[in-house]
Amino acid sequence: MFAIPHLDIPPLTSAGGTVRLPGSKSISNRVLLLAALSLGHTDITDLLDSDDTRVMLEALARLGCRIEPQADGALRVHGLGGELPVRQGQLFLGNAGTAMRPLTASLALLAARHGGAFELGGVPRMHERPIGDLVDALRQLGCPVHCLVSEGYPPLRLGDGSTHALKLDKAIRVRGDVSSQFLTALLLALPLVAQAQDVVIEVVGELISRPYIEITLNLLERFGVAVRRDGWQRFTIPAGSQYRSPGRIAVEGDASSASYFIALGAIAPATPGTDGITIEGVGLSSIQGDIHFVEAARLMGAHVEGEANRLHIRRGSWPLKAIDLDCNHIPDAAMTLAVMALYADGTTTLRNIASWRVKETDRIAAMANECRKLGATVEEGADCIRITPPASAQAWRAASIHTYDDHRIAMCFSLAAFNPARLPVRIEDPKCVAKTFPDYFEALFDVCATPAALIPVICVDGPTASGKGTLASELAQRLGYQLLDSGALYRATALAAQDAGVALDDEPALARLAAQLPLAFRDHKVFLGGRDITDPLRLESTGGMASRVSQHLAVRSALHALQQSFRRLPGLVADGRDMGTVIFPDATLKVFLTATAEQRAQRRHKQLISKGFAANIDSLLADLQARDLRDSSRTHAPLKPAEDALQLDNSGMDIEESVQQVLKWWQGKTVFPGN
Ligand code: C5P
Repeated sequence: MFAIPHLDIPPLTSAGGTVRLPGSKSISNRVLLLAALSLGHTDITDLLDSDDTRVMLEALARLGCRIEPQADGALRVHGLGGELPVRQGQLFLGNAGTAMRPLTASLALLAARHGGAFELGGVPRMHERPIGDLVDALRQLGCPVHCLVSEGYPPLRLGDGSTHALKLDKAIRVRGDVSSQFLTALLLALPLVAQAQDVVIEVVGELISRPYIEITLNLLERFGVAVRRDGWQRFTIPAGSQYRSPGRIAVEGDASSASYFIALGAIAPATPGTDGITIEGVGLSSIQGDIHFVEAARLMGAHVEGEANRLHIRRGSWPLKAIDLDCNHIPDAAMTLAVMALYADGTTTLRNIASWRVKETDRIAAMANECRKLGATVEEGADCIRITPPASAQAWRAASIHTYDDHRIAMCFSLAAFNPARLPVRIEDPKCVAKTFPDYFEALFDVCATPAALIPVICVDGPTASGKGTLASELAQRLGYQLLDSGALYRATALAAQDAGVALDDEPALARLAAQLPLAFRDHKVFLGGRDITDPLRLESTGGMASRVSQHLAVRSALHALQQSFRRLPGLVADGRDMGTVIFPDATLKVFLTATAEQRAQRRHKQLISKGFAANIDSLLADLQARDLRDSSRTHAPLKPAEDALQLDNSGMDIEESVQQVLKWWQGKTVFPGN
């Protein structure tokens, strides 16, 4: 099958408005685990709904933890209180490091104490992400841990079904220079067994990504465990530790996700009538380390004002200023700096980012490749990256960005759409953002603007019952585009006229109604002044009235601007009679869809019968031919193919075949290399 999984982002020119961020991934998964290990139940609000939290929730449910959504939107987690009701099982953890590491540590300890056995694994990339340092630490503690395929990597078997005495009197040593997640995992797990004595963890080597440890310590405290910290080398979990639910806990907005919108505010001129970008849900009192991205963005020239739970960003220096920065404290958000560097006045160097090599993908190599595709000059070091922007606007190239199943790569390269060459940017697998920010592109397009002429449009025109509606909505869905069913506007005008007792030949009154249609499209339903008209809109009689209403030039003019207002990011599929000839004459692709009148009458007949309406095929055929005649012989915007339309007779095709044909034509219209 010919599928288009990618998203083409048109060139973007300005931004402004308010963004509400989803909950932080790091906080969400830590809070879920802590709630599950605690005594009592915890109501969690603002939890991130994403791939990574979903695997954590599934794993906890498999371990016997009861999880119930509450009427107020909170999720209630009934804690296990340190017990292990299910003693064995297999857990699939996808590519979620924030689930793999802490569950490994907690289950290894609980399995050893209670006599359990668990297998933990994930997607192939998860099995390439090292976990040996954590495994070593757990073995020092006396936990049986077995690497099932390759030493030092998942999948793992934890426990062997028997109980084992844990060696807690000696300090547990763990390396801190590969990933701070190993230390976090131990900090989350050891309070489960620190009852009779203090338990000490010693970090070997320089601890990286300290801010994530701060999040861990902060949350442990919220759940009743106060860890003593000596510098960043030694952590003591006090004897008598016991996790206790705080009752209710709200998850902060994700500070790493904020970085894309901070960068957006720094890169994009403010859309007229707005004052730049406002971010809600995270601010300067955040416990997340990535909030320090604000300082890095300021160094590059961003104008950022902050409150406790909100940020406001405007463009400051332009071009941005090149920087040379140690990014160890903001490893995830620093990827966004790499894309900001494309707009800087010189070479930017991001240092101390070795951890990028062991994330969702080798992020140093990936960022270097993709920045080069856009025309930048990039040098890679073992633990640094140096980026020189394209030398001039002409040096930028239209790039198809490979995403490496890495949500952050997809999100940060969307910002390349502000390139001065006004080239679109293709994101090859936009759905990978579901890991932390499932609605990222919707949120981005909501606050971005671009001249209408730069927003692509596909027109699908054709006679009644040719299958335009179905084809158009399939195309819009697969391309992630907006949809305009222009017939619905004429139908709604006809219904409004009926309600108001306006005759169908009273052109001025009809035009007045059309000019102020109180129409709203919500949840696949259509409302006229608050009344749900989804069903009446589709009646044959309404179609007949619409065909008469649409004869009048004043009505057509009144609906013109409304139809054009559907041309919104990232693109539009519009179906009707005159989309390609009148409303969007500059559309990128125009399709004229036809089928024989007999075929169309049969399809309509089938459709009506399946919906439980009575229908007679002969009268349907007669109606349809009358409507064809009226639509194609009228004076204003008659139904006819645009000169540059591609004709598609779908009489012998099913829907999928028509969709495939149009997608193929569409693919031929794009500017990306390799097409
Ligand atoms: O496509 P649909 O059957 O919903 O359209 C109802 C009527 O509205 C058509 O018969 C046609 O007369 C009118 N129409 C139009 N121009 C459009 C869309 C629909 O004149 N762009």
